[in-house]
Amino acid sequence: MAVYKHIFFDLDHTLWDFERNSQVTMEELWEEMLVQRMGTTKFKDFFFTYERVNDHWWGLYRKDQVTKEELRVGRFADTLKRFGTIDLYLADELATKYLARAPYMTHLFAGAIEVLVALRAEGYIMHIITNGFEEVQHIKLKETGLRDFFVEVITSEAAGAKKPDPSIFHYSMEKSAAHVKDSLMIGDSLGSDILGAQGVGMDQIYFNPKGVKHDLFPTYEVSQLDEILPILIKT
Ligand SMILES: [Mg+2]
Repeated sequence: MAVYKHIFFDLDHTLWDFERNSQVTMEELWEEMLVQRMGTTKFKDFFFTYERVNDHWWGLYRKDQVTKEELRVGRFADTLKRFGTIDLYLADELATKYLARAPYMTHLFAGAIEVLVALRAEGYIMHIITNGFEEVQHIKLKETGLRDFFVEVITSEAAGAKKPDPSIFHYSMEKSAAHVKDSLMIGDSLGSDILGAQGVGMDQIYFNPKGVKHDLFPTYEVSQLDEILPILIKT
């Protein structure tokens, strides 16, 4: 098997529990700004819709079909519209408050810290490659105590390209003095992390906690983070 030296982790939905942190934030905003005006709508229906709308907007952003600012507000405007509320001012206020709070939430996936501790002890050099916004990803890393595990934190904004674009992977390897053959990408997104790493010939571990069906062939696939350890630590 390949011997890896550098491990590139995705952050959102891989280490940082995006859905849970997002839900806690949205629940707060719901109570403060929405519950009075949303009539009989239940929070869980609103949030369910928001998650789908948000995924859709992130997909557009990844393909450079919308700007960061359009994504920031559009996902809220679109969600509100689905419940009959057209209010750009409210969408903008939600977007601003959401981005001011969500990065401070600290729920991680089970085993995240234990896995990073074990990999570091094994001598792996670890980095982050994320498509998330520059200003919020650094807050998440700091607030969760994850920052010190990583040597390089590469955001798509700094790299000038988003996963799966090969240039962000080349940029990451250059920054960390890594080579494709001694590098491994770990992430939850087939479209960004797995296809992106495959595109430059880098091995991958697909983190698939929901058991998503697919027809890609990642080097490895795990449903829980601690399943990474037997792959990377030989006893
Ligand atoms: Mg992700």
